[in-house]
Amino acid sequence: MKTSDLIEHIKAGTFNCSKIIPDKINSYEILNISDFEVLKGISKYRSGFEFLRKTETWAKNSNRQFILGEMDRLCKFLRSIEASGCRCILYKYSSPAPETEEESGSVKILHKSEDSFVTEYQCVCTACNSVYQVTIEEVRFGHQTRWIKK
Ligand SMILES: [Zn+2]
Repeated sequence: MKTSDLIEHIKAGTFNCSKIIPDKINSYEILNISDFEVLKGISKYRSGFEFLRKTETWAKNSNRQFILGEMDRLCKFLRSIEASGCRCILYKYSSPAPETEEESGSVKILHKSEDSFVTEYQCVCTACNSVYQVTIEEVRFGHQTRWIKK
């Protein structure tokens, strides 16, 4: 099922694991779902996704090793969502700009300092009060953002 259909089914409560078709699973899109309630909903079915990590699920071709790596990542992600009470767990997997997160009300920026190469922030999650150290560093081809829980 396409990621958009997966989201619809989770929201409507009509999802079941027989709808998981390996070739249609896009781990990248699932990892980028920003709606935490949807992710929580998907993580309840986590055990139904585990077969995607099995070698025999996938055709034996040059892509298989890569896909298996992606599926490991997806299942690990769903496990940590399942175990977490707060959406800020997503900062382990994606690194948005702190300003964007503050605008949407997810965090509050407590402190910001910058020099010519590095900008550092101290942010607090508005839902669970976890504090994050965010570093934006100039790298060879642009900027690298990292969120680290304190
Ligand atoms: Zn949080």
